[in-house]
Amino acid sequence: MRLLVTDLDNTLYDWVTAFARSIRPMVTELAALLRIDEDTVYAELKSVHRRHHNSEHPFAVLELDSVARAFPAATPVELLTLLERPLAAFNAARATWLRLYEGVSDTLGALRARGVVIVGHTEAIGPTARQRLRLLGIEHHFAGVYCLANALGPHPSPGWQDKGGVPLHVVPREERKPNPALLRDICASELARPEEAVYVGDSLTRDIWMARRAGVCAVWARYGRGYTDEDWATVVRVSHWTPEDVRREARLRVSATGVSPDHAIAGFGELLGIVPTAAARPVRRRVRKVG
Ligand SMILES: [Mg+2]
Repeated sequence: MRLLVTDLDNTLYDWVTAFARSIRPMVTELAALLRIDEDTVYAELKSVHRRHHNSEHPFAVLELDSVARAFPAATPVELLTLLERPLAAFNAARATWLRLYEGVSDTLGALRARGVVIVGHTEAIGPTARQRLRLLGIEHHFAGVYCLANALGPHPSPGWQDKGGVPLHVVPREERKPNPALLRDICASELARPEEAVYVGDSLTRDIWMARRAGVCAVWARYGRGYTDEDWATVVRVSHWTPEDVRREARLRVSATGVSPDHAIAGFGELLGIVPTAAARPVRRRVRKVG
């Protein structure tokens, strides 16, 4: 095996838990600051996320209707100060809850030492995914990250600059998981044949079904569903998913009935037993840097 394509959220770290537990204290602080109930904050957050087709739209709180009503004349920079407590509550909780699953960093390092090229594949937008890999201290293991296209507005701080980092390869929205052509394209871009690649992910309907149909060894991270119902409910409550998204998910589940992975792992470190050999020759990489 010369190429590992890894899903990010709930394969390398528990995104559901970290996101839900960062959102809740932020909503509590926002409701107190704006003197409104938490239900209203959740509904307004969902509406901003829907507008941007992104449940993690950066600085969504600056666009809440209640914020506009409370601070009608404030500039984005002023809002950052006015909303300092809710934003700090989110960041503090994320620092507590965003944690790699056990063995992830060591395993990525060991695979890289064996000559395996590692790329990420996520339906998060690129800058958000890259920031997460950086916060978790694993960005240096990645040769690239394949991510969804999404337009981001300007950062609210005028002096802010994107630090760059791991190359981002933008995937069109119509080529989302579980499209097997997308995974075959990723293999081709990384100069690996599908049979030389391993895909690891926590979703049977998206990751595993896609990998199996692409002819790529499919490894199911079955530990990725270890979050609580309460945390999942919080994610759904603020998510951008439309009724059509929910119907699409239901259709996918039906289509993927009976799909089984080549391997199921109880911890990321078990990949070392599945990807045992080093690449025989160095992989010449063709990088399409887009961000
Ligand atoms: Mg996932």
